[in-house]
Amino acid sequence: MIAMAQTAGKIEKRRLLILGGTGEAASLARAAVERFGARLHVITSLAGRTQQPAKLAGETRIGGFGGAAALANYLREHAVDLVIDATHPFAAKISASARAACEDANVPRLVLARSPWRPQPGDRWIEAADAAAAAKLFPVLGTRVFLTLGRRDLAAFAGINGCWFLIRLVESPKEPLPLRAQDFELIVARGPFLPDEERALMLRHGIDVVVAKASGGAATEAKLIAARKLNRPMVLLRRPQTEPGQVVEKIGEALQWVEWTLDGLDETGLKAP
Ligand code: NAP
Repeated sequence: MIAMAQTAGKIEKRRLLILGGTGEAASLARAAVERFGARLHVITSLAGRTQQPAKLAGETRIGGFGGAAALANYLREHAVDLVIDATHPFAAKISASARAACEDANVPRLVLARSPWRPQPGDRWIEAADAAAAAKLFPVLGTRVFLTLGRRDLAAFAGINGCWFLIRLVESPKEPLPLRAQDFELIVARGPFLPDEERALMLRHGIDVVVAKASGGAATEAKLIAARKLNRPMVLLRRPQTEPGQVVEKIGEALQWVEWTLDGLDETGLKAP
């Protein structure tokens, strides 16, 4: 079955919107263009947080939609046939918007979510509800802290006395960080990192505790492996619940869903339920 919409004798490609901002979304866009490019137009949406995003396969659009109702309008106006939410597990607002918008516009939606991390023997994990709750654990839990959180989570750690922070961000911040200059060192680096690199970094800076988001997936788990090997505790910010709906963890499964959904759309001529 060829997955194309036919209007008045004209063959039009179906349209897939990927909600992105992650390595998984970039890989998915590449794979979807490779596999379905002749019959599917692939658009990746980015929030616009990254100043110079890497070039993605297919079309890229940048910026918020303006909430769920506006996203539903976008889906209708741009004749989007299917949506894959491949955003970061902590990007809960856009995922909630995507669910509401797809229900409103009757567009099939899939969530591509990272598999959650499970503790292994030797892990010393402490769960925290959010950055503010994590910050309350210091300096009692440790004094040389590797903070692998986003820029917006750092303010919670300002004003803690007796702690030094190694902060890693994926981009140089435009604004000064909210911590006292003598209390931190900033490194700007984008993963994935190798466990041995993470281990060496922690040893070099005398790190005695790591704070991270419980994002899951393979791309950022090297620091977990390093902390385990070094017997360092990790404070993990609790991951928001994945939005209800169909969820897959692998890009191959997402591609399979695209194929089935396109076939369903072609057979019925309607949007799938
Ligand atoms: P968020 O809290 O869920 O989203 C805040 C607002 O940003 C949304 O309401 C939406 O604006 C806009 N937005 C978010 N993702 C978008 C997308 N892919 N396309 C268009 N607009 C989007 O998300 P966040 O935590 O700020 O993350 C922003 C982006 O960075 C996400 O795309 C996510 O995948 C990526 N990211 C996040 C993290 C993290 O730790 N949170 C880490 C790595 C990458 P409107 O309401 O105006 O539509």
